[in-house]
Amino acid sequence: MHELSIAEAIVRIADAHAAGRRVMCVEVAIGHLRQVVPSALEFAFELVAVGTAVEGAELDVVTVPAEGRCRACATVTVLDGFPLHCAACGGLDLQLLRGEELRVESLELDETTMEGVGSGD
Ligand SMILES: [Zn+2]
Repeated sequence: MHELSIAEAIVRIADAHAAGRRVMCVEVAIGHLRQVVPSALEFAFELVAVGTAVEGAELDVVTVPAEGRCRACATVTVLDGFPLHCAACGGLDLQLLRGEELRVESLELDETTMEGVGSGD
């Protein structure tokens, strides 16, 4: 299950940064191209969080749209499905600008909020 390994990465990062404090909420940015099912991720997150500082925390998933720049005509297209192609010329040779994120954006701890926690990669 794809979402389970992502949930494990999120919990590992959040638990490490919590440094013993209780985590109330974890905000994650996930690129569209990761093809994560949010409900499946939330379910996996709850399971994986048991026994860590993250147990019982809310998971706030922000989906990042995929964007690519066409190498033929330089148009930037928001990509919402496969195959990825340019909206202007139909070209398939795109440079991916975003959409593959897997990042913990912020943690809400029981006393303070930490921003810019770092990358999940
Ligand atoms: Zn194009």
